[in-house]
Amino acid sequence: MGLLAVGTPLEWPEVKKVAGHVREWGIEQLLAIWRRAKGKERDALLWGDEIEYLVVAFDDEKREVKLSLRQADILTALANDAELLKQGGGVPDLQEGRKKSGKNAPTFHPEFGRFMLEATPGAPWGIGFKDLLDVEPDMKWRREIANNHMYAHEYPITMTTFPLLGDRKSIIPYYPPNGSKLRSQFVPDEIANPHIRFPTLAANIRARRGRKVELNVPAFHDEKTPWPFKDPTVDYDLHDWPEDDDVRNGAAKENHIYMDAMAFGMGSCCLQITFQAKNIEEGRKMYDQLSPLGPILLALTAATPIYKGFLADTDVRWNQISRAVDDRTPEELGEAPLKTDRWRIPKSRYASNSTYISQDPRLRREYLDPDLVVDEALKQRLLDGGMDDMLATHFAHLFIRDPIVVFAEDLEHLDLTKTDHFENLQSTNWQHMRFKPPPAGNDTGWRVEVRPMEIQITDFENAAFAVFCVLITRAILSFDLNFYLPIPRTTENMETAHRRDAVLNDKFYFRKDVLPSKRPIKLNGGGGGGGVASGPPSGASTPRLGPSRPPSPFGPVEDEYELMSVDEIVNGKPSSSGGGFPGLIPLVESYLDSMNVDVETRCELAQYLALIRGRANGTLWTAAKWMRGFVRGHGEYGMDSRVGEGTVFDLVKAVERITVQEGRDGFGREMLGECRVKG
Ligand code: GLU
Ligand code: MG
Repeated sequence: MGLLAVGTPLEWPEVKKVAGHVREWGIEQLLAIWRRAKGKERDALLWGDEIEYLVVAFDDEKREVKLSLRQADILTALANDAELLKQGGGVPDLQEGRKKSGKNAPTFHPEFGRFMLEATPGAPWGIGFKDLLDVEPDMKWRREIANNHMYAHEYPITMTTFPLLGDRKSIIPYYPPNGSKLRSQFVPDEIANPHIRFPTLAANIRARRGRKVELNVPAFHDEKTPWPFKDPTVDYDLHDWPEDDDVRNGAAKENHIYMDAMAFGMGSCCLQITFQAKNIEEGRKMYDQLSPLGPILLALTAATPIYKGFLADTDVRWNQISRAVDDRTPEELGEAPLKTDRWRIPKSRYASNSTYISQDPRLRREYLDPDLVVDEALKQRLLDGGMDDMLATHFAHLFIRDPIVVFAEDLEHLDLTKTDHFENLQSTNWQHMRFKPPPAGNDTGWRVEVRPMEIQITDFENAAFAVFCVLITRAILSFDLNFYLPIPRTTENMETAHRRDAVLNDKFYFRKDVLPSKRPIKLNGGGGGGGVASGPPSGASTPRLGPSRPPSPFGPVEDEYELMSVDEIVNGKPSSSGGGFPGLIPLVESYLDSMNVDVETRCELAQYLALIRGRANGTLWTAAKWMRGFVRGHGEYGMDSRVGEGTVFDLVKAVERITVQEGRDGFGREMLGECRVKG
């Protein structure tokens, strides 16, 4: 999560004074990158994944599980061992037949929470299909290495959020809440990574807002939940800090679970995929085309049904992170008339995307966000520097924000060989897609990061979603698919993805005609060869589909999309029901057919595609549904939305068991199905 530069961080009033300066320097650095790298060609089509973990500590005798704040110790142990790994020693071979020798050891990184870790492969993945099969063993290897550097009673779990985060005691070692940085009545300042960037981020967001962040998650209304629900854990009698007034001023909303610190959002874990494009144009296209898939990926990976010891009525983390870093002032939020601030801003810094950036003739102006706010002066500077309007608009939109963490030392002189000021703004714009210019000082190309997915319990599922993202991206590029949708519809879809069981019950706006006009694509033909995942969805598509209507830009934009279920989007829908849709998985299958992937690889990939199919058609449950079911079926649950400590202990133990067994022992099959039966 961003660069870990060091220096003397400025407090918010000082940052505010230099914000314009940092933005201007950031834009100059961006122009320097643009000039240097806009013509960069033939970069390799590489990609990488990022896995975020929670470190939990069990006490089996007491039936307790807590978050372990030992991130720094674990990272130190890992860093020391990385030396060993470089020399080729000390790494057990986890998966028979897949030798680690000669492979790069994974890299571990800190994350916001002092109870979090992040791990990436030691080297990017390449274009080959065989690489796709190395992802899961590598993820398992990462988890095992992490685990080996923890205490025996600790475990790197991949749940998005810790169900008891904020109950004031489920951290080890214990620290009291209501510290000076976060001023949270639920979590201590020590919950955040001690690197100065993190507490400064939290403190300056709070200071800019003029009050603490506010996260209100709808509470799940169960049979015996007292209703209206008033979060019983809120303390209205604290008087340590001015911010303690927030709850007396209505910050905690009725029928909601209330949280008040950055850690409740940025303490959540996700799965991110980054692609390197062959050139800037390809990167811009990937960014646009993957953007409408964001809410679908979020709904498919839903894994966040519990907050602060209560069942929530939503299934995903997204809006909570959005609110946890929402530094907008009352004026920017539209709660007070605009006097000193520059504009109303419709979205938090962490939100779904508001721009398209490709110079694709299929991109119609009507798709763009009518509410987009841009800094016109900075945009003009980018245009004067030679950047085209589309990309200048994108960056001038990101640059409406203030920098949050500024180090005094960095303001001394502008270094155009560095990208620190640019990255300052770029890395604190947490949108669901990120377009990443080449960094200074190495040969990396233009990249696109896919950010909406929730972390999954097993490495199998995380690999499945990573592989699916890669394959659909390849299909987009290879078949020239068109997923353009008006941006406001994607914004709405992101909200829809929050609903409980959205993947089963809700409909999402999606483009009807995604196929290119010139080339018919063979769908579901070619014998499939993919075992479980190869069959067409019940009569979905005719063998060959050409375009059913002219490509854009003709006709009203509203005719181009409709509401579809995730099943229809992913698995396709028959044309007999009026206007068929090929489905993302059949498109991926067609792509694999066109690439003549060998049978063995195809069979292995089929397991991953089967998981995505099953999630979409409801035969396999999301982790959110499974966890909610686990809690509601637990003997200690009083049907009142409260998730007690004993239940959480059993839940996290169950999650650990599924991580290890992946359903081979029959447990957790609702999520994983028969995918792993082969072992
Ligand atoms: N953990 C954050 C999330 O769940 C992302 C942090 C990052 O950008 O690395 O979205
Ligand atoms: Mg991260």
